[in-house]
Amino acid sequence: MSKAQPHIRSITEVPRVGQSSDDLIQGIQRHFLRTLGLSEACISDHYKYQALALTIRDRLMENWRDTKEAVQETNGKRTYYLSLEFLIGRALGNAILNLGLNEQTTKALHDLGINCEEMIEAEHDAGLGNGGLGRLAACFIDSCATLQLPVTGYGIRYEYGMFRQSIVNGFQQEAPDHWLREGNIWEMERPEYTQAVHFGGYSETYHDDNGNMRLRWVNTNDVLAVPFDTPIPGYKNGTVNTLRLWKSTATDEFDLGEFNAGDYAGSVAQKNNAEHISMVLYPNDSNENGKELRLRQQYFLASASIKDVIRQWVEVNGEDFTHFAAKNCFQLNDTHPTVSVAELMRILMDDYWLTWDDAWEITQNTMAYTNHTLLPEALERWPVHLFSRLLPRVLDIIYEINARFLQDLAKKYPGDVARQRRMSIIEESDVQQVRMAYLAIVGSFSINGVAQLHSDLLAEGLFNDFYQLWPEKFNNKTNGVTQRRWMAWCNKPLSKLITTHIGDGWITQLDELKQLAPLADKPAFRKQWAACKLENKERLSAVVKDVCGVAFSPTAMFDIQVKRIHEYKRQLLNVLHVIHLYDRIKRGDTDNWTNRCVLIGGKAAPGYYMAKQIIKLVSNVADVVNSDPDVGDKLKMVFFPNYRVSAMEVIAPAADLSEQISTAGKEASGTGNMKFMMNGALTIGTLDGANIEIREEVGDKNFFLFGLTAEEVEASRGNYNPNTIIEADDDFKRVMNLIECGHFSQFEPGLFTSITGAIRCNDDPWLTAADFRSYIEAQQKASMAYQDKEQWTKMSIYNTAYSGKFSTDRTMHDYNRDIWKLKPVKPQTS
Ligand SMILES: *Cc1c(COP(=O)(O)O)cnc(C)c1O
Repeated sequence: MSKAQPHIRSITEVPRVGQSSDDLIQGIQRHFLRTLGLSEACISDHYKYQALALTIRDRLMENWRDTKEAVQETNGKRTYYLSLEFLIGRALGNAILNLGLNEQTTKALHDLGINCEEMIEAEHDAGLGNGGLGRLAACFIDSCATLQLPVTGYGIRYEYGMFRQSIVNGFQQEAPDHWLREGNIWEMERPEYTQAVHFGGYSETYHDDNGNMRLRWVNTNDVLAVPFDTPIPGYKNGTVNTLRLWKSTATDEFDLGEFNAGDYAGSVAQKNNAEHISMVLYPNDSNENGKELRLRQQYFLASASIKDVIRQWVEVNGEDFTHFAAKNCFQLNDTHPTVSVAELMRILMDDYWLTWDDAWEITQNTMAYTNHTLLPEALERWPVHLFSRLLPRVLDIIYEINARFLQDLAKKYPGDVARQRRMSIIEESDVQQVRMAYLAIVGSFSINGVAQLHSDLLAEGLFNDFYQLWPEKFNNKTNGVTQRRWMAWCNKPLSKLITTHIGDGWITQLDELKQLAPLADKPAFRKQWAACKLENKERLSAVVKDVCGVAFSPTAMFDIQVKRIHEYKRQLLNVLHVIHLYDRIKRGDTDNWTNRCVLIGGKAAPGYYMAKQIIKLVSNVADVVNSDPDVGDKLKMVFFPNYRVSAMEVIAPAADLSEQISTAGKEASGTGNMKFMMNGALTIGTLDGANIEIREEVGDKNFFLFGLTAEEVEASRGNYNPNTIIEADDDFKRVMNLIECGHFSQFEPGLFTSITGAIRCNDDPWLTAADFRSYIEAQQKASMAYQDKEQWTKMSIYNTAYSGKFSTDRTMHDYNRDIWKLKPVKPQTS
């Protein structure tokens, strides 16, 4: 059965670990006593969690080894997902679910008198990402494992993940997230695969043994990249893929000069610089401009990962790269890892002596680039002088790529110098810059956006020159989320109900949810559906009471907006609506009132002043609303602190209304919108990103649409006059007046002038005022719809029923069909 080496086979013949609840109990006891060396005196949640996690991990290990062996034996094509962020969250519950150990674990813990909930809560979120982009990477690798695609994730093992947010006097405060302090059961250090990454030095020419002139990078300062592997289990299929995260560490070489001069401590301390590379995740959602350490991180990831892939290639194939492109694909998650294009060229030419043309052919056929943003300010550019100091040899190659590209352009568009300037990878401004997106486009065979509108806008706008040149490279891959974490794991009541009625096929075939649609007509089913929602709302209410001290009544409409705080996402518009509702209550306009609980959450980049002001406004409005006896249960609002993956697992199942209200044309896709839809929330949203596709799937009647279209947003530039809009709208005028007269800043005069100023500014890029009236009307429709409980529940069921498209299983299937072309690999299990 196994074709492995004799000594390996003897390991394979060790009996496989049992899956019964008794086996789990034994495992937990054994780890508690022997792995952790504890006695009954030191029982704590933390140690109980560790013993349980180790027991579950044992069950992953064999599948992990089997998967690696199967992938090696198959020797087929593989994909490497390169991402500076993987926003994983917690691993324990997901592992239990995917291993099919839910019932056994529940029983084992019950028999041992251990509280399951406390075990889950004992795990720290792995917050190695900012928001949507990082969470997407996490959902992707989950789906790849479930589809049994040989895909490895490569990222950075940040010592400090996304900061912890607390709210002090209404303001955001950041605290470092030292997530590894209590250890991380899920990672395995693999020092044997350590790679050296070069920085600094210079490039020089030399002659090889055959007298050919070559270039090499010398006198470098090297940093070691040590891999830590995390198992990524597929759903009940025996597959466990790998997420490989690199930690930076110093080489063993000392600065001999200083060492000999007697400064031993000083020369050891210098090693700190190397360790810094993987120290901290940059907490900026869009882009970190010009920070040297960030460029070091990018190159560190790119170089270590490519060297790791080449190491594996050479082990099997020797130094023959003829079929490398047919067997390997790198998917670049945004431009962050784009320096990979030049790094692969460098290694193939400098280390393996391929010609430029051969290396370029390979590079162009292995790299694929995913764009994540239309905001021009978020497009990465790096100063050439920084590259030249940090990565001189890599810059040589980027220059050469650009020179050859510009030559091709000159042939294709003779005399069109303007076009060449526009498309050049090197921007000629006062400080020369490397345009990373252009490097990615020129170096890749596939360029995709993440929702249909976004992909269309890329081709028409931002990348139009490149689209004209290479239309065949451009494609769309609409994002998704994994229904394993975002329904099966986090919404147990609903999952159970769905499975009772249509079976559990939806856990791997989300389209099967459409079988729920006819059930929406059955009153008994609706009643059960509404009961699930109520149970989830009660769970969230308890958390809100605990962390915000505010009582959310589970019978009110739960109106939720959680996502990074950014002006384009327009949390401001949401607040304006809340103030409008408050104003209506105060003036007694409450006929046919629908009680609402509004929850807003999300982190602001620490240096983003306006985003932090918006948090303060939410907090202050919440304080006024929640403490006004006239308001009572009609309206409640909280700012939910420290929004993260594990928080979303409680929030999404409890939502009635999902706020997806970005300025049209600005949100590339959104994925929060999909999590809410799956869990039966109705969306109030603009025609932006994947909202368009959500509305297409669920139908206009089951979606609250408002606002300008992306085209209208573009057209309004230059003739936008918010003050005229405000003056013409009594409700809007009153809302602005409440803020401007200091109603929400009684003891902090002038606090919100920057916010009201931004709304009133003719250049407001987010057109908040333009969409106010249509937003208020859509909200009123939602309020009215909520009063018809039966109809609302029907619409809720339809949202879940038609969410099948938004599984990352579908997304990964599409990437694989159009870009990667991998064959699934099934591990042989005994
Ligand atoms: C899904 C998710 C996001 C992305 O939300 P959007 O609404 O698409 O911006 C961000 N952060 C966390 C923790 C998430 O789970």
